[in-house]
Amino acid sequence: MLKKMSIRQLSDAQLQGKRALIRVDYNVPLDEDGNVADDARIRATLPTLEYLRGREACLILMSHLGRPKGERVEKYSLRPVAQRLSRLLDLDVAFVEGTTTDEAREASEELKPGDVLLLENTRFDPRETANDPEMARELAALGDVFVNDAFGAAHRAHASTAGVAAFLEPAATGFLMEKELEHLGDLLEAPEPPFVVILGGAKVSGKIDLIENLLDRIDQLCIGGAMACTFLRAKGLETGRSLVEEDLIELAGELMERAGDTLMLPEDAVVAPDMENGSSSSIVGVEEVPEDQMLLDIGPRSAGKFKDIAADARTVLWNGPVGAFEHPPFGAGSRVVTQGLVEATGRGAKTVVGGGDTAAALASFGLTEKVTHVSTGGGAALEFLAGKELPGVAALTEVETT
Ligand code: ADP
Ligand code: MG
Repeated sequence: MLKKMSIRQLSDAQLQGKRALIRVDYNVPLDEDGNVADDARIRATLPTLEYLRGREACLILMSHLGRPKGERVEKYSLRPVAQRLSRLLDLDVAFVEGTTTDEAREASEELKPGDVLLLENTRFDPRETANDPEMARELAALGDVFVNDAFGAAHRAHASTAGVAAFLEPAATGFLMEKELEHLGDLLEAPEPPFVVILGGAKVSGKIDLIENLLDRIDQLCIGGAMACTFLRAKGLETGRSLVEEDLIELAGELMERAGDTLMLPEDAVVAPDMENGSSSSIVGVEEVPEDQMLLDIGPRSAGKFKDIAADARTVLWNGPVGAFEHPPFGAGSRVVTQGLVEATGRGAKTVVGGGDTAAALASFGLTEKVTHVSTGGGAALEFLAGKELPGVAALTEVETT
C-alpha cells in the first residue's frame, strides 16, 4: 500500500545538520494589542519541532496569518508568534520580515543544528495563494527536506502548502498532520457503530458535502444551531427572524427525505428578540417560534436527547455549536451536548470535535481534554470529511508500506 511519508521515516542522515523547511498553521487569533490570544495551534506543532530539534535539524518555519491579500499588512505580521514560540520552546526563535528575500536566505544558511527560524507571513506575497511555482521553488531552495504539519491549511493549494512539495524531496507529514489524518480518517474508514454526527453552527452551506458523504454511514444525525432553522422551514414550520438560508430550503428538504429517521431536528428551542437579549429569552416548541423572535439555541428537551444519543454512541463527530454560545444563555445546549461527548469518551467511545467555534465552545467549558480529538482545522476537516482530497496532503511523497 502507498502511504504518505511520515516524519518518522526520515532518516538521521536526512535530518542531522540539514535544513528542515516546515509548513505550520500559525493562523492564530491576536488580541487588540497584537499579542497571541490563543496559542493552541502553536502548541500543537511542538511535538514535530521537538522531534526535529532532537535529530539536530535546523528548523525553518513558514505560515500564513489572516488574509493580507498579497501585501505587507503590519497587523498580520508573524512577529508576535515568533515571540510566543520562543517562550514555548524556551529558546530564541529568529524571525525575518520576508519569505523568499535575500535576508531570509541568509538567515536560513546561518542556522545551526537545533536553531529555529520563523519566516514572515507567506500571504504577504501575492504568489502564495496563486500557488505560483516560482515562489514554491524559491521556498524549496531554503530547505533540504520539507515537512508539512499544517493540517488547517491543507485544503488550500498554495505555494507553501502544495507547491513547495513538488520542488523539495523528501516531503513528509508532521505529527500534527498525521494525528489529524488518523482521527478524521477513522471516521471515514471504519467508524464503530453507533456512529452519531452532531451538526450546528450558523450555516448549512459548507456542510452539505459532508452530510452527503457521511449520511449512508451514520446511525443518527442531530442538527442544531441556526442551520436547523433551514431544515425546520423545509418541514413547513415558521422560524420568525431566525437565520435561514432561503436558497437551501429545498435541498434541506431533499436531504431530510433521504435521511429519514436518521435525521433528528430539535423539538424545542430557546428564542429571544436577538442575541444581545438573553435576559428576555424563553423556551418554546419549534412549531411556535414567535414571528418577531429568533431561535438561538436548542431547547432543554432537545439538548437532553442529543446528549443521550451522543453518550450511547461508539463514534461521535461534532461540528458547529448548537446555539449562539458566545452570548449567554445561548450556550446551554452546547454545554449539554458536550456532556454527552464527555460521557461517551469515558465509556471508551471515539469522540471528535471539528470547527474553530466548536473548539472554542469546548474550551470555554474547560472540557477540551475530555474528548478524543479536537481538530485544529475547520475548513480542512470539513473538506476531508466531505471526501475531498486535500492538496497539501496529496502533494507529499508517497512510500510503500506493508
Ligand atoms: P465552527 O467554526 O465550529 O465550524 P460555525 O462557524 O459553522 O462553527 O458556526 C459557529 C457560529 O454559529 C457561532 O458563532 C454561533 O454563534 C453561531 N450559531 C449557532 N447557533 C446559532 C443560532 N441558533 N443562531 C445564530 N447563530 C448561531
Ligand atoms: Mg466558524
